[in-house]
Amino acid sequence: MELLKRKIQEEGKIISEGILKVDSFLNHQIDPLLMQAMGQEFARRFHGDKITKVLTLEASGIAIAIMTALSLQVPLIFAKKRRPSTMNDEAFLGHVHSFTKDEDIDIMVSANFLSPEDRVLIIDDFLATGEAARGMIEIVRQSGASIIGVGIVIEKAFQEGGKSLREEDIRVESLARIAKLEQGRVFFL
Ligand code: 5GP
Repeated sequence: MELLKRKIQEEGKIISEGILKVDSFLNHQIDPLLMQAMGQEFARRFHGDKITKVLTLEASGIAIAIMTALSLQVPLIFAKKRRPSTMNDEAFLGHVHSFTKDEDIDIMVSANFLSPEDRVLIIDDFLATGEAARGMIEIVRQSGASIIGVGIVIEKAFQEGGKSLREEDIRVESLARIAKLEQGRVFFL
């Protein structure tokens, strides 16, 4: 998506080996018009796939996922990173290892919000090793719902996540695919 690629070129910062910071429009300050355009683009790509729910992981996936859910006119569920005291329901659990934070977390979705009839689109801001996406896939599989695809804003194609998901025949749609981050510059595929 050209608008997104231009934004990454103009505002993205490479902060350490393999890590791109996009705090000015995606991960801290949020550009609502860009989010709206990206949500519409995911909705266009998955138009006709009869999506019934969008699923993301708190917190940074929520902005893009809500715009996608709005465009598709379906509910958004965000997986929680810790069980709130108000949540006594049965829950589906996924396990995620974060390489950026070097920590293991359990993510959860209440069993009230996913059922075997659901057709789920998973949305996230970045795809790197695929751990976050896999945690959400684990949750959808436990619920018996169908995984229709994974929509990603920025795929770091030099890491293995996208390749390994596609090898398992999971449809991955990324709005920008980065081939490499080198000498302070972003190279797209
Ligand atoms: P994965 O689980 O695929 O390794 O990484 C995906 C998650 O890690 C994303 O949800 C995102 O929060 C974070 N992440 C991975 N790589 C980057 C990066 O280069 N920049 C930023 N800002 N977040 C990243």
